[in-house]
Amino acid sequence: MTDAWHWKSACEIRDAVQGGAVSATQVAEDHLAHIDAVDGQVDAFTQVWRDKALEMAAAVDAKAARGEPLGPLAGVPVSLKELLCTRYGKTTCASKMLAGFESPYDATVVKKLEDADAVFLGKVNMDEFAMGSSTENSALKTTKNPWDLTCVPGGSSGGSAASVAAGECALSLGSDTGGSIRQPACLCGCVGLKPTYGRVSRFGLVAFASSLDQIGPLTRTVEDAALALRVISGKDPMDATSADMPAADVTDALTGDIAGLRVGLPREYFTDALNPEMREKIEQAVDVYRAHGAEIVDISLPCSNYAIAVYYIICTAEASANLARFDGVRYGFRHPDAKTVQDMYVLSKSEGFGPEVQRRIMLGTYVLSSGYYDAYYLKAQKARALIKKDFDAAFEQCDVIAGPTSPTASFAFGAKSDNPLEMYLSDIYTISVNLATLPGISLPCGLTDTGLPAGLQLIARPFEEATLLKAAHFYEANRGFDMGRPPIA
Ligand code: GLN
Repeated sequence: MTDAWHWKSACEIRDAVQGGAVSATQVAEDHLAHIDAVDGQVDAFTQVWRDKALEMAAAVDAKAARGEPLGPLAGVPVSLKELLCTRYGKTTCASKMLAGFESPYDATVVKKLEDADAVFLGKVNMDEFAMGSSTENSALKTTKNPWDLTCVPGGSSGGSAASVAAGECALSLGSDTGGSIRQPACLCGCVGLKPTYGRVSRFGLVAFASSLDQIGPLTRTVEDAALALRVISGKDPMDATSADMPAADVTDALTGDIAGLRVGLPREYFTDALNPEMREKIEQAVDVYRAHGAEIVDISLPCSNYAIAVYYIICTAEASANLARFDGVRYGFRHPDAKTVQDMYVLSKSEGFGPEVQRRIMLGTYVLSSGYYDAYYLKAQKARALIKKDFDAAFEQCDVIAGPTSPTASFAFGAKSDNPLEMYLSDIYTISVNLATLPGISLPCGLTDTGLPAGLQLIARPFEEATLLKAAHFYEANRGFDMGRPPIA
């Protein structure tokens, strides 16, 4: 093998496979060999689907040999977060509760990727049921940040981000409820896109908080994120909340032309809560827009301070309802020692769920309980509406909002795991985007002095992914430096 296909972008691989310069099988083999070489250090993959990958690649090559046109992701190697239902392999949500669980169906996004001729390399690690910001809450393994193996990859889609950053795949699908695509993308130095709520079908995504969850791509380039979004978006009869809009044709928007673009900087995002080094990187990124004629506007999102509190009421309330189905009867783990039905519930849940998931179920049950519902849940819903209103008002003055993705770069294992509140604050800039159902993207904007990636977050109006990706692509093309590769073998 001459070329290292594993550092190529999805678009480059697709073009090469479509053009016959390389076979899908060669690309898959190259990636599998790279996984063998580096995943012992990174530990992103929870299942490597060697046979499946080669079978899918062979099917793409056979199609090419028959002279049939190849799909838009021809031969592109993909990893899938452990909470996306796949008939092949296991769907465990990185939880003991679903150890060994085999889904009877494929998620809609999984089908769409397959129809586009992508090749699945396997599944990747996450925080249990997507609750966390470091992937330390996984019951399966500890995933490391490819830029520094002593640091976390972020979460909850930490395996997705690490696998893309380490060159193990060109594209991963993750999910984002409060930042779980953007924050790990930021910490691992890749691109992470959370589409508008409803843009992508959630059918076959194991639900955490249904009014917030969205599936989206993690990639190494903005163009790849746009390509993936085009493939996975669109109305799905199997998800009533999917928006009745054609698939987002966003690749055409990457024109490199930002004439007239107004970039809003929320003053609430640039306070002492933001690490000074991160702040400097974000300001340098904003300067790129300024230098090319964008109008930089000072904006305000006055309700930002309430976002974390509101989120941890709404997401826990929804989680407590969604996770009620894991009762030892229909799905997953059933405790062998249970003698009564009551025992079976208590023992199965206490052993099947890890501490963070139990904490969320208890909090959610509490905020929904009679006597507390109005004080917590209802009030949080009202505050959520105010947060959304803030964004509506801000988007009168600007077309995209720019700011940090995360208040700090990656951190050492254990640094925040004893203090849930500290961990919750990792998502201070991403959570309100989910509460307001907006599209957001994180893209690499440099390395800190200690060699850890920093991330710029851009936010746009609902369903304006085209504007979002255009602005992101512009920055990526004009930032004036290359992110390089993480220092793994
Ligand atoms: N870190 C946040 C949480 O723990 C967000 C997780 C997510 O987006 N899935 O809830």
